[in-house]
Amino acid sequence: MPATLRALRADITTLAVDVIVNAANSSLLGGGGVDGAIHRAAGPELIHECRLLGGCKTGDAKLTKGYRLQAKYIVHTVGPVWRGGEHGEADLLASCYRRSLEVAASKDARSLAFPSISTGIYGYPVELAAQVAVRTVRGHLTQCPALTEVVFCCFSPGDLAVYERAIGQQAS
Ligand code: ADP
Repeated sequence: MPATLRALRADITTLAVDVIVNAANSSLLGGGGVDGAIHRAAGPELIHECRLLGGCKTGDAKLTKGYRLQAKYIVHTVGPVWRGGEHGEADLLASCYRRSLEVAASKDARSLAFPSISTGIYGYPVELAAQVAVRTVRGHLTQCPALTEVVFCCFSPGDLAVYERAIGQQAS
């Protein structure tokens, strides 16, 4: 059975899933938005582990422990900054979702939550980002046999509606 996909509105730091994904920046040393919230909730040990990782390229993903979170692990991925859509943004965003699933699969994660990568400070239009997110995750589920649930964790009611529509539209 492939994993189920669903969207919900929540603070991602509160979710009881095996893995949460962080929309980090390439330094991996913390920032605003969801990154700041995750670092605050996980506690100061997280930054120590992040310092050892040597940063992360856009489109790639790296693993840390979850520390004070309920999630066992955090996958830190770096989304593209939106520069109009002609600079490989969609491929880079798809790579974030693909690499995050690969890293989570290496720990046999059964449940995983994504934030809406790149659609905050990085300015990626949420309607376009949701299409990429849902399509990419659906396309890679067979490579994550342990996974039973993928959550798209939205922070606003508007984003939730967009992700729910994307999941519904692309349902096969
Ligand atoms: P980026 O730099 O990749 O755009 P942001 O953190 O600025 O990352 O925004 C990504 C998304 O995460 C936005 O939709 C933002 O509203 C959302 N977000 C911010 N805080 C949280 C949180 N605690 N839980 C879930 N989503 C959050």
